[in-house]
Amino acid sequence: MKQLRDWWQALEQLLFRVASPCGLCREHPSLPLGACRVCLDSLAIGWEERKMNGYSCFSLFPYQGFGRDVIHHMKFQRGYEIATTLGLFLGLAAREEPKLAKVDVLVPVPLSQGRLEKRGFNQATILADTMKEVWKRPVCSNVLRTRETETQSGLSLTRRKHNLHGAFAMLPGFDFRNKYCLIVDDVITSGSTFYAVARLIEDYGGIPMGVFAARTEILRSDQDAEEL
Ligand SMILES: [Zn+2]
Repeated sequence: MKQLRDWWQALEQLLFRVASPCGLCREHPSLPLGACRVCLDSLAIGWEERKMNGYSCFSLFPYQGFGRDVIHHMKFQRGYEIATTLGLFLGLAAREEPKLAKVDVLVPVPLSQGRLEKRGFNQATILADTMKEVWKRPVCSNVLRTRETETQSGLSLTRRKHNLHGAFAMLPGFDFRNKYCLIVDDVITSGSTFYAVARLIEDYGGIPMGVFAARTEILRSDQDAEEL
């Protein structure tokens, strides 16, 4: 965390401040990173690695307080602007993370077609596409969500796993063998969505890892984090 903050401060000193509004609150002028100082402080950013069933997962801020509000707004209001702002943060952080240097491809967690049409965009895809801008890694969109799943909100861990069983499939056209695949999503909670995609990638010979804007405590029973 300290390393990242130091790096940001150095960047701020190097670059001119721009007059465009903050991509998260639109209330204050943005720093060159696309968000204002107030929002950056409120997010309580701390780059963290955790092992989820042996997979390396990285995340940027806690899914609580302001961080939780930002994720909700990304899904329901001004989603595109917030997702590109968070995608920039993630891309810069991932680029600086030595353990991610071997990543070959970014794999956004897909939405079902129905949910995509309803929302108009997939926030995970926008995060990955923006990461690609600053961290030159290709985006692979060959993972599909094959059916609607019940909302994960409020489901037990067992129900979540059952709910996601067989919910993802792979389109042909990309050779995953021995490729380090960084699965991208907005929030990690129980990890059940991540595991489902990770196992699919493993079935095709890839080596999954994960990166998320926000995180909750492991095994916490979340009320409304994933799959909103
Ligand atoms: Zn702000």
